[in-house]
Amino acid sequence: MTSFCTNYHSPVSVEEAIELLRHYDGDARVVGGGTDLLVEMRRGLRRPVMAMIDATRIADCKIISRSDDCVLIGCGVTHTEIINNATIKKFGTCLAEGCGVIGGPQVRNVGTLAGNVAHALPAGDGTMGFLALAGEIEIAGVNGVRWIPARDSFAGPGRSVIDRHREILTRLRFRAAVIGEGSAFHRVMRPQGLCLPIISMAVSLRLDGASISAATISMGPVGPTPHIADAAMKSLVGDPPSAEKFSEAAEIALQNVTLRGSKYRATTEYRAQMIRTYLPLILARAAERAAASRHLAEGVAS
Ligand SMILES: Cc1cc2nc3c(=O)[nH]c(=O)nc-3n(C[C@H](O)[C@H](O)[C@H](O)COP(=O)(O)OP(=O)(O)OC[C@H]3O[C@@H](n4cnc5c(N)ncnc54)[C@H](O)[C@@H]3O)c2cc1C
Repeated sequence: MTSFCTNYHSPVSVEEAIELLRHYDGDARVVGGGTDLLVEMRRGLRRPVMAMIDATRIADCKIISRSDDCVLIGCGVTHTEIINNATIKKFGTCLAEGCGVIGGPQVRNVGTLAGNVAHALPAGDGTMGFLALAGEIEIAGVNGVRWIPARDSFAGPGRSVIDRHREILTRLRFRAAVIGEGSAFHRVMRPQGLCLPIISMAVSLRLDGASISAATISMGPVGPTPHIADAAMKSLVGDPPSAEKFSEAAEIALQNVTLRGSKYRATTEYRAQMIRTYLPLILARAAERAAASRHLAEGVAS
């Protein structure tokens, strides 16, 4: 650790953390579980700093709670805590499913959802699930506290509107699913070796009687930032759920992204085929969950 920073602080309140960030005046870095940051520092991709400010010891930052119609998640909450949480599995199923595929148990035990979102990669798995729930994040800094839609926080690959030298992502929230709503997540990746996905997708749907009244679709990597498939989402609204409708939505989604091929991961054509195959399937799964009001997350213990 000493080669990455001179001082390591574990503040117990947001105020103390902000005071420390003010003190170091840009020469500090907020750290969660460190599963991205320390790897990047070791590889020389992030500069060493005078101080690291640990966001996971702040009082109440480990809490997952329900308030009115929202589910609130503190910045110290790990992926393991999310996938073991009954409230998230029931009211934000695709988020539990996304967090459930991250790394292995060791990574999930320390890596946080806040870190996944703040890291701002184009295809963070927790981030995908959170975006499909139209999640929002709370950012605290010397200039005050603000809530913003998570979709507005991405500025490029690994770049966030959160100034991670001066601000903390303190809490995340999403509106809890109500009767008639359901969500689902799926990731396609090579079975061995690389931990980067070929494609990650998450969806949430609301049914009003027999028709879809709202839809959200997130996917990545399909560009420099996580993608919200607005046109495909619009195309679903007003019609009953059907295999044809879901395939049409996948085609519309494809028309609105520029897929890139990667010699290590997948060709452009393969990526497109995975979207054609799996987006309709997870839309159907979300619709089934919405219709039955059953929210059993797949791949995580019930
Ligand atoms: C072996 C391995 C496998 C992995 N597999 C996956 C995978 O399958 N899917 C996936 O999505 N990710 C994967 N990751 C990446 C990583 O584990 C996740 O992105 C994790 O959620 C990061 O959270 P963290 O708390 O460890 O973040 P950190 O590493 O602590 O921080 C990440 C970034 O966010 C900033 N940050 C952290 N917390 C805050 C905060 N509260 N406020 C402001 N800024 C903050 C840091 O300054 C840093 O820039 C893997 C990593 C490893 C090492």
